[in-house]
Amino acid sequence: MLGIGIDIGGTNTKLVVVNRAGKLMAQDRFRTEPDKGPAFFIKRLAAGVDAFKRDYGRQLVSIGIGAAGDVDPEKGLLRFAPNLFWHNIKITGPLEKLTGLPCAMENDANMAAWGAYELEMRRRSPNILTLTLGTGIGSGLILDGKLYHGATGSAGEAGHLKIVPDGRPCHCGGRGCLEAYCGSYAIMARAKELIKDEAAFTKKFAAPGHVKFNTICLTNAAEAGHAVARKVWAETGHYLGTGLAGLILLLNPDCVVLTGGVSRAIKWFMPAMEKVLHTQQIKTPFTRVKIKVSDDADLGSHGAALFGLERALKQG
Ligand SMILES: [Zn+2]
Repeated sequence: MLGIGIDIGGTNTKLVVVNRAGKLMAQDRFRTEPDKGPAFFIKRLAAGVDAFKRDYGRQLVSIGIGAAGDVDPEKGLLRFAPNLFWHNIKITGPLEKLTGLPCAMENDANMAAWGAYELEMRRRSPNILTLTLGTGIGSGLILDGKLYHGATGSAGEAGHLKIVPDGRPCHCGGRGCLEAYCGSYAIMARAKELIKDEAAFTKKFAAPGHVKFNTICLTNAAEAGHAVARKVWAETGHYLGTGLAGLILLLNPDCVVLTGGVSRAIKWFMPAMEKVLHTQQIKTPFTRVKIKVSDDADLGSHGAALFGLERALKQG
């Protein structure tokens, strides 16, 4: 029994086929090309699914989708995808019609959370908070072994928790959000304020073959003992700890799973983050919680496939 997982991103869309244990059997990737419109996109998705069907036939029983944006999981509707500039696009209904497979869709951070629950924790921890730390910050909640949606499917917008009143501007249009301090764009904006010669810094610390002033540079610089880079990561840790402390007090998770590019710098932001977590007055949730980084870049697509399988099996 196999499930298809689809991860819809602003630049690329990824399709995978996995078995119940999460083992990757096949994959495909294409450019999302939002300017060609949703109908074109859904046909391209169906063509990808058909190609898998030729190889795996009736072994394929479900499709699970994670989409970056505001998703209505009940209606299979992508209400808003800021990176695609799409509003109110029906995805699961048309895809079910074209492929004949049951289809479930969720926000991409929710699917990363499900992936963390199944693959990282092997279902041993029923309460997991997953933070996706990339350009922006998303989060997904597994509570008592179930994906938590909230009243409108919007639960887990942790990136826009206000952590500094009237603070830095956020991509959402607001101010002081967690993302405005710990999203990669915000971290690099802060680095830019403090690093005088950006070009020389990039040349010295960029990964071989790359010329981008990004969080990889900043991590390499911290590794090399660069004081400003270490300061920026420490500030990031402080703000991330501030946001996370509130979430841990609210949810009392067994485990927090950090994923996404920024999570790779954990060595540099963890001490400041832990300092905030360990100086909270209510101690119990903080002594119990485990903080873990997932280096599985496919947590979202694999999580989506496993979630789709779970849903299809439940519905029989
Ligand atoms: Zn915001």
